[in-house]
Amino acid sequence: MEWNAYLVAIRLASDAGQVHIIERHYLEPTGAAYRYVNIKTCCGVELTTPFDECQQEDINCETCVAKIEKQQAYWRKFWSGWEGKKIIKIFTGMDRLEEEWRDSHRQTEALLQRVQAFHNLLQDCMKHHQPVFTLELPDEVLLKLMDFGSVGEILLCFKVDDESRNNLQTRLGKEGFALLGSRLISKGLLKATDPIFNRRWT
Ligand SMILES: [Zn+2]
Repeated sequence: MEWNAYLVAIRLASDAGQVHIIERHYLEPTGAAYRYVNIKTCCGVELTTPFDECQQEDINCETCVAKIEKQQAYWRKFWSGWEGKKIIKIFTGMDRLEEEWRDSHRQTEALLQRVQAFHNLLQDCMKHHQPVFTLELPDEVLLKLMDFGSVGEILLCFKVDDESRNNLQTRLGKEGFALLGSRLISKGLLKATDPIFNRRWT
């Protein structure tokens, strides 16, 4: 596990024997905690007050560590895969554009907006950190989704663009994919008005 500033080791007074990991943004006053109920540690223990921040060395919840390791492996794969490469291309393209079009705010602005829009999409999807099985799909579909750590990762794959969605469809087959789509809609994760079919990130 790679430790970083986004993670906090935490000991809940209600469960003093265990030191868990929680994502820092949940603890910040302007963070998601104020917008979403049921804030949980990485292993799924509900956040209760009071709690103490601990050292990384104190962490003894193996489920939390395993969860973070799985998440980090997902992102390593993501950034080395075609989605990540596309995003890197946008960012490196932005440097080039800034030089080329230093005088033309409009084009740089448009690109910045795209990067921002992608960032928002990412944030929006990844807040759904509930496990994939909560989508209540048949076992054979769930098995094909084993690489995904959370509902958010699937949602991102679904929303990011056509190519990503097509890959998901190939993986699940048409029926599985249709079922997944209808579950995401019935859980309120996708909406009929969602502009997924118009979004383009590259
Ligand atoms: Zn834990």
